[in-house]
Amino acid sequence: MSFKDIRGQQQAIKLLQKEIATSSVGGTYLFTGPAGVGKSLTALTFAKALNCEKGKTDSCDRCSSCRKIEHGNHPDVRVITPEKDSIKIEQTRSLKREVVYKLYEGRKKVWIIEKADSLTLEAANSLLKLLEEPPAEVVLILISQSEGKLLPTILSRCRIIRFLPLSLKEIEEIIAEHLPQNPEKIHLLARLARGKVGEALRLIKEEGILENREEILDSLKKERKIEEIFNLAARWASYNKEELERILDILLFWFRDLLILKQGGDRWLINDDKTRELKKQKEKYSFLDLKQIIETIEKTRYYLKSNVNQRLALEAMWLKLVYRT
Ligand SMILES: [Zn+2]
Repeated sequence: MSFKDIRGQQQAIKLLQKEIATSSVGGTYLFTGPAGVGKSLTALTFAKALNCEKGKTDSCDRCSSCRKIEHGNHPDVRVITPEKDSIKIEQTRSLKREVVYKLYEGRKKVWIIEKADSLTLEAANSLLKLLEEPPAEVVLILISQSEGKLLPTILSRCRIIRFLPLSLKEIEEIIAEHLPQNPEKIHLLARLARGKVGEALRLIKEEGILENREEILDSLKKERKIEEIFNLAARWASYNKEELERILDILLFWFRDLLILKQGGDRWLINDDKTRELKKQKEKYSFLDLKQIIETIEKTRYYLKSNVNQRLALEAMWLKLVYRT
């Protein structure tokens, strides 16, 4: 993968390429933005471009340096990831020990610190001096979804490069390349991906998203008995977090569409292949119902991200959705 293959991050990439072209590459960067939009990929490609034997401001992807970086065995490029759930002082110490060593074969040592917000306080403090004045041949790239989670002392030492979610159109184009035969699916998947290429690529591989939606919508239609609701909640509770999040997204998009119709609009519907069904259902809910249901789903999404009992949270949500209590 080279810069020209990365989608939707032209602004960030243009900046980095300009720095390479004008020999003004910094020593410490922070790449920040939501998960799945290309931060890590860009960091690795930056490492390649900085060390490429052939390319000038992009990686050639064919020379021995590019290939070694791609395969994770270039001696001057390291990716540091959390051990269990944090980056510990031993990891940063081992990094600092390498500062004194000469370059093995590249032009720049590039150290990429993934999930930099998971640095323990001790580890973060031990890095401050290095971040302040890295040796000329070292480029440190911190990666984090949110700059707010980093210590101000770290932030102030970084050149911040922001990565934005991709536009709906960009995501649709990427999905369309993979699924040219199914336009309805493209539209729904693009919305479910929420601007993240990583998520879009994952969803493409998953089968049964449309069937999933049918099942979810079907469960809303029927007058449900309490036992059925509990059974459904129990089944969903066995899903992993990503699957659950997707189910809640599908629900959320459905009620969001109903709200749009209720307000008299019919453009921008996510489930635009289901307009007739939406129009039928719209009469079942008052404006206030819809607002409350959307709030309930949003709250459940939030609860499920923390360590609540998934089943209880889903039961409570489903009861609210069906009985509107
Ligand atoms: Zn190369």
